[in-house]
Amino acid sequence: MFKINTDLHTHTVASGHAYSTVDEMARGAFNKGMKLIAITDHGPKLPGGPNVYHFGNLAIVPDELYGVRIVKGVEANILKNGNLDLTDEELGYLEFVAAGIHRLTGHNLNNKAEYTKATIEAMKNPQLDMITHPVQREYPVDLEKVAEAAAENNVILELNASSYNPNKYKTRGIKSESLKLLKLAQKYGFKIAINSDAHFYDKIGEYSTLNFIFESEYFDSELIINSTVENITNYLDERQRRLNKLKKTV
Ligand SMILES: [Zn+2]
Ligand SMILES: [Zn+2]
Repeated sequence: MFKINTDLHTHTVASGHAYSTVDEMARGAFNKGMKLIAITDHGPKLPGGPNVYHFGNLAIVPDELYGVRIVKGVEANILKNGNLDLTDEELGYLEFVAAGIHRLTGHNLNNKAEYTKATIEAMKNPQLDMITHPVQREYPVDLEKVAEAAAENNVILELNASSYNPNKYKTRGIKSESLKLLKLAQKYGFKIAINSDAHFYDKIGEYSTLNFIFESEYFDSELIINSTVENITNYLDERQRRLNKLKKTV
């Protein structure tokens, strides 16, 4: 079985509805043989989510705990017109910016065309790295259009293991659409991340609900950005160079 020892989407107690601290997450990751995790707590618009101080202060967390690289990030909320719930300056404190559409965030988006448009607009933000769970029952998007925009804007699209967790109140994934995402990655060349979306330490790196992806004839590890730690560290270095350059030209 293809083994992935990184996870670009995890939540801590700071999210308000997750149950482990950063230290517990790091130890949990170490015990599972993981080499890198991104801490991506929800943006401030989600009920119970952290306020902006949380993100501004995140840099005090060590870059490495128990030998696990800790990437400081966010899962921001996509709002109307593709705006995010942190300003560009606030996003600038972080190493990795993910974003997705979530309930109860006041996004005011009402149908597939609007979810698609907001997602595509969000991807135009040069600080955005990854769209979380682009496949979700509640907020369906036109995957082909989102895939095209991901390739154009160099944004990662996620396959989210937690979307298929049978213990969740409602599973949010749609298998046929997740498989379609694999095919679209081959067609357009954007990168995919395989993530847990862990809200408890034991779920870090838990990807078995995505076995239907690993077993698919369309699965190609070359398309998976978090297939190795080096892929991600190279990506993060390149991202920083690109954003520094952009800062200088403004
Ligand atoms: Zn999410
Ligand atoms: Zn999440």
